[in-house]
Amino acid sequence: SKPIVAIVGRPNVGKSTLFNMMAGERIAIVKDTPGVTRDRIYADVSWLKYNFTIMDTGGIEPDTHNQMLRDMREQAEMAIEMADVVMFIVDVKQGLVDADYKVADMLRKAQKKVVLVVNKVDNFDKMMPDVYEFYNLGIGDPHPVSSLAKLGIGDMLDEVTALF
Ligand code: GDP
Ligand code: MG
Repeated sequence: SKPIVAIVGRPNVGKSTLFNMMAGERIAIVKDTPGVTRDRIYADVSWLKYNFTIMDTGGIEPDTHNQMLRDMREQAEMAIEMADVVMFIVDVKQGLVDADYKVADMLRKAQKKVVLVVNKVDNFDKMMPDVYEFYNLGIGDPHPVSSLAKLGIGDMLDEVTALF
């Protein structure tokens, strides 16, 4: 059957925007409010000779007593379990934060293949220096994309599909 690719990361890093862009239509809900995606959402994607299923998730907020955010994390953990490859999304505008390290730890423990995607790199010339700090996560090379400007998507999909 088709490989499953889970899209995970903290709320508001642009997971649903990236999901919709790859799905080629607006399926997932994109909002400025963190935690808006509460259901698992699937879409079939074709890239070159590859056909696979992408799965959007609500987001992982590691330290929270908020029940909705805990439910979202649990749902993301299920998605990670099901996934063949995990796209770990971080946000270059916000920079590297403690929650990113905690998500990286979760993924290491899950022993899944991970592609680290640095989103919101809307200008590769200007913002590239900020991408390199994500090497500190120790989870592999950071791949810059802009889900809004549709930059870096082909290279990112090459990295993902190379892991099937
Ligand atoms: P999610 O919570 O991780 O699913 O994040 P969303 O997809 O809902 O996006 C959160 C916010 O980030 C929205 O305001 C998006 O428009 C914005 N966003 C997403 N991708 C990009 C991007 O590539 N560049 C910029 N500048 N903003 C983005
Ligand atoms: Mg979302």
